[in-house]
Amino acid sequence: MTRLLLIGAPGAGKGTQAVKLAETFGIPAISTGDIFRDNVKNETELGKLAKSYMDRGEYVPDSVTNDLVRDRLTQADAKPGFLLDGYPRTADQVVELDGMLTDAGTALDAVVLLTADTDEVVRRLLNRAIEQGRADDTEDVIRRRLEVYEEQTAPLVNTYSARNLVVTVDGLGAVDEVTARILAALAQRGISA
Ligand code: AMP
Repeated sequence: MTRLLLIGAPGAGKGTQAVKLAETFGIPAISTGDIFRDNVKNETELGKLAKSYMDRGEYVPDSVTNDLVRDRLTQADAKPGFLLDGYPRTADQVVELDGMLTDAGTALDAVVLLTADTDEVVRRLLNRAIEQGRADDTEDVIRRRLEVYEEQTAPLVNTYSARNLVVTVDGLGAVDEVTARILAALAQRGISA
């Protein structure tokens, strides 16, 4: 079974590709952003806390996010494999995830880096704001999310590159084309469904 991470700037198309890849590999797509949004919608305590950060384009604190993922990864469907979309996003989260995987006696197979240039990403996010009405898709918040990504998450690519896990895929183009690119890049490394 396969254990994958999906990393990329906001708007690079991670969520869309996560669903497609998870389907192909028969593993759950675990999106911390989706879990936070569900909690916001259901007005849980976690949701209230998460919202105060999300609305500003800031990251939810590591302690909260790490606990959430630890809990999710111990659920039965994630035991054989998973695709994490939007986690880890900070150096601390990498350390925590390493610990979770070591405890479970498993390891990552690959980290898919989905690239997209900034203009395209902003255009996609503004479009999504119109289509989905996400509270964190206003122009100011989008700018902040991109900054936070560059500061805190982009450096993780180096961490995983040093482990020879990163597969870089151009995220521009039709959804199915991008999926095909990712699958081909993974297959080159001997990772296939
Ligand atoms: P996403 O849908 O992945 O873009 O996530 C939406 C928002 O949820 C982010 O801007 C953060 O506020 C929060 N979030 C999602 N994943 C994480 C994470 N791994 N660490 C901290 N905050 C996160």
